[in-house]
Amino acid sequence: MTNAHSSISPVMVASENGRAGMTAAMKLLREGGHALDAVELACRITEADPDEHSVGYSGLPNVLGEVELDASIMDGRTLKSGAVAAVQGYGHPITLARRMMSELPHVLVVGRGAERFAAELDECPANQLTETALARWRERFVEYGLEPGAAKDLRTVAKQLTRPLNLQDKLLKAAKVDTLGTVNFLALDQYGDLASAVSTSGIAWKYPGRVGDSPIIGAGNYCDNRYGAVACTGMGELAIRVSTARSLVLYLKMGMTLQEAGLEALRDLHYIFTEPTQYMNIVALTPKGEHSGFTTVPSKQYLYMNAELTEPQLADRTRL
Ligand code: ASP
Repeated sequence: MTNAHSSISPVMVASENGRAGMTAAMKLLREGGHALDAVELACRITEADPDEHSVGYSGLPNVLGEVELDASIMDGRTLKSGAVAAVQGYGHPITLARRMMSELPHVLVVGRGAERFAAELDECPANQLTETALARWRERFVEYGLEPGAAKDLRTVAKQLTRPLNLQDKLLKAAKVDTLGTVNFLALDQYGDLASAVSTSGIAWKYPGRVGDSPIIGAGNYCDNRYGAVACTGMGELAIRVSTARSLVLYLKMGMTLQEAGLEALRDLHYIFTEPTQYMNIVALTPKGEHSGFTTVPSKQYLYMNAELTEPQLADRTRL
């Protein structure tokens, strides 16, 4: 059952790479569509984009050169959620997450189980690794003076490759953070329902089976109609350790304003920072349609759109 709030104007919020998905999903919301359908649709569009190397098809692979995808979705009305992690050989992990939510009594299924689930749903198996991503994988080994595919001591290789380029040169400020990326979508529909979705190929060159914050409900994704929806991008290990998405929603529940709640979530993250390049970004949307972005690093933006706008707009994220 959905609440009839005809006066509510739909709003969407996304990470900066969500432009195409957001435009299509806002059209759906304007036509009376539901927030859950909107965030799933938006993620599917980003997942299918061959030029987006941090999500879905053409995502950057793990240290072995295999693409492993993670995704989660949450329904703010029921707090039902679904997630899959470390999925190989199937695109659209967000749809697997959505169907996990509706067809199994589980929240998170990983690896082989998630791939079996995809096969049972008649999802089409497809190689997610593109030539471009493979070439980037090879280059990465060369940049670090390693043999592509040399997997003798995988722990050391993965640890080295997942660190931002130039970090070992002590050029921390100039370090090129080229291993991160994820897409976030939050939506408020005309019925007053919130939904959130996150999809990613995770940190590039990660140790096989590594799972970040994106499919962890409470870490990289949380949504509750009563208080708000929140999603994260950045070094997932940080958001897992301080439960960033759920914490921000809890701060809203405790009566903080959106700005106060976001700053408090940033303080939680700052407490555990060890390296400046291990950044986190947060987007948040309240049941009233207020939105904001937060970040631990300078010059980060997020996208938002409402029913009156013809295209997504960029806004600066707040930093501590
Ligand atoms: N949060 C993602 C992860 O840790 C990566 C990212 O957003 O850049 O898997």
